[in-house]
Amino acid sequence: MHTITIAIDGYSSTGKSTVAKELADYIGYLYVDTGAMYRAVTLITLRKGFISEENIDTEKIVEALPDIELEFQKNAEGKAEIILNGENVEKQIRTLEVSEYVSPIATISEVRKKLVEQQRKMGEGQGIVMDGRDIGTVVFPKAELKVFMTASAEVRAQRRFDELVARGHQITYEEVLENVTERDTIDSSREDSPLRKAEDAIVIDNSEMNQEDQFHVLLQLAKDRIAGRI
Ligand code: C5P
Repeated sequence: MHTITIAIDGYSSTGKSTVAKELADYIGYLYVDTGAMYRAVTLITLRKGFISEENIDTEKIVEALPDIELEFQKNAEGKAEIILNGENVEKQIRTLEVSEYVSPIATISEVRKKLVEQQRKMGEGQGIVMDGRDIGTVVFPKAELKVFMTASAEVRAQRRFDELVARGHQITYEEVLENVTERDTIDSSREDSPLRKAEDAIVIDNSEMNQEDQFHVLLQLAKDRIAGRI
C-alpha cells in the first residue's frame, strides 16, 4: 500500500494532537507528537537547574544535548508516551511550569537541529502523522498533506483550561490564556523555524467544530491524498 506523510501544524492548544492521533490510529500510521520532545528537553533542563526565573543558560543546555535520549513507547492502551533517558515523563511534561519555558527553549537552534534530525528518521519508509509547529515548513517540506490548525485564542485557552482542571491542576483561565498567547508570539517570531503556515497547507479553523467534525474533515483529506498516490 502507498503511504504518505501528513504534517499538522498550528497554534498552541488547537487540539492538533488529539485529532492527529485519532487519524493515525484510524489509517494505521505512526503518530508523533513533536511538542512532547521539546517539552521533555525543557523538563530535563529545568531539573538540571539550567533555567531560572531571570536566565536560561543556553550554553549548558547545548552542552547537555548529547546526553539527552528521547523515544516514544506505547502504553497499555496503545498511546505513545515519551521516554526521557529511560524514564516515562508523559505526565511531568504537561505542567504549566514546562509550558512556561518550552517556547524559549524551542528557539535554541541546536535543540531544534537535534530534534528535527530524529523526527525525520522516524518518518523514513512508513506512513506518518506528525504534529508540531514546523513540520510542513522544515521537517517534511515535501509532505503530501499539510494542515494548519487554528482557532481563536479564547477558545483554545478554554479548552486547555478545562483539560488541565480535569487532570487536577490548580490554575486560572487567565493564566492559561496568557501562556497560550505568549507561546504563539514566541513561536511565530523566533528566527529559526518560526511557526507559519506552509504555502501549500490547508487551513482548518476549528473554533466552531467539535472533535468528530475535525476528524472527518482530516480523514477525507488524507483519503484523497492517499488515493492520489495509487
Ligand atoms: O505542541 P505543544 O504545545 O506541546 O508544544 C510545546 C512547544 O514546543 C510549542 O509552544 C513550541 O514552542 C515548541 N514546538 C516547536 N516545534 C515543534 C513542536 C513544538 O517549537 N515542532
